[in-house]
Amino acid sequence: MQYFLVTYGCQMNRSDAERVAAVLEGMGFSPAANESEANVLGVVACSVRQKSADRVYGRSLAWNERSDRGQIITFVTGCVLERDRGKLAKLFDIQFPIQDLPKLPELLISGGFALSADFVFRQSVMSDARTDYWKIAPLAASAHQAWIPIQNGCNRFCAYCAVPYTRGREVSRDPKEILDEIACLLERGYRSFTLLGQNVNSYGRDWSSGEPAFARLLGDAARLIEKSGREALIYFTSPHPSDMQREVFELMAAHPAIARQAHLPMQSGDDAVLRRMHRSYTMERYREIVGWVRELVPDAALFTDIIVGFPGETEEEFEHTREAVQDLAFDMVFTAVYSPRAGTAGAKLPDDIPREEKSRRLGVLQDLLKTMGAEKKKRFIGTTQRVLVDGAAGADIVSARTNGLIPVHVRIPGVNPAEFIGQFIDVRVISASALSLAAEYTAAS
Ligand code: SF4
Repeated sequence: MQYFLVTYGCQMNRSDAERVAAVLEGMGFSPAANESEANVLGVVACSVRQKSADRVYGRSLAWNERSDRGQIITFVTGCVLERDRGKLAKLFDIQFPIQDLPKLPELLISGGFALSADFVFRQSVMSDARTDYWKIAPLAASAHQAWIPIQNGCNRFCAYCAVPYTRGREVSRDPKEILDEIACLLERGYRSFTLLGQNVNSYGRDWSSGEPAFARLLGDAARLIEKSGREALIYFTSPHPSDMQREVFELMAAHPAIARQAHLPMQSGDDAVLRRMHRSYTMERYREIVGWVRELVPDAALFTDIIVGFPGETEEEFEHTREAVQDLAFDMVFTAVYSPRAGTAGAKLPDDIPREEKSRRLGVLQDLLKTMGAEKKKRFIGTTQRVLVDGAAGADIVSARTNGLIPVHVRIPGVNPAEFIGQFIDVRVISASALSLAAEYTAAS
């Protein structure tokens, strides 16, 4: 019996998909090389953009038109808006919130899938608690890089975002379980760990003390890695600027196991737009946080997200964003054009910026980022960087990332690039472009 899983959206969905795969393989399924061979077909859905939601419908329609439709079972999980649930229930055989993943074997049986008589579920299914699905050991897609979910849901209700409606309120994972998972993966040779959550800095706020516990968790994870004597790095994404603590950067400065990289979503550089987005911080506060990074970890790479064309964004407000992007000299900026998501506060505002104007603003930012990105990366030329190899990028070339997650292409003449995947190596940077570096190999770990 074979399964085929399609995953849309963010790292959290990819991490969830690793647990879905673990359950299916625990049931005796193996992954199908292509969907036409699969008996069970599933989607881990994303509702953050209309385009992602449309792709989920596209998949279900294609599967429902198959001539062997009676012999396959389809399911959907992940981020699904309340208003879409009824429609998806008619298109897929099974729909479940990701927290109900431990029940997937039962759901497949009730959906008509017959288990073989010798079936033994290899993962123990726990109680009905909302955090049980994290106890399922994931079937990691990578052999050296791990996503470690620490939290699910969000209490922030940013005006453009569907996450609080699809994943619900924040639930924090037990810290012991997180540290045990890291220890186990470290032992198995994993070299990079990303603590994942929708707002990692409010980790622990849902516990009875109500105190954020993210800095403590980050420090404990760093100490665990450092005590092990193994070389590995810990990342986190994403924090919300309103919940960010200076202590996080003090830890980054003190612990070599914490990667010198922070993804701090700004979204807009204008206070009025931030208010309309319900982002609950001002640019003064945002600049204060960037100041902590520059003061405490001057070599840290700073990433951000920007949305252009939010309802009512004037030319002057957009100009404030452009100026902030220029002043704050980010290492990487992920840009997006605003599109309303049903049920959010933003969807009640008139989507009044014409599509051409949104594209023009996006183009202005992208042109700026091209020039700035190349200029900023020049500082690496001639330096030696310790990078983690994550793939082959051609004959004699590997793709890797610096400690700050800047992509690097490294030429290693006369070797099979695959031998280096998952290793830290020292490289000398020879050139820089807007998005990446080129380097030559100097030594392996
Ligand atoms: S902090 Fe805002 S943007 Fe991030 S998941 Fe929560 S509601 Fe969405």
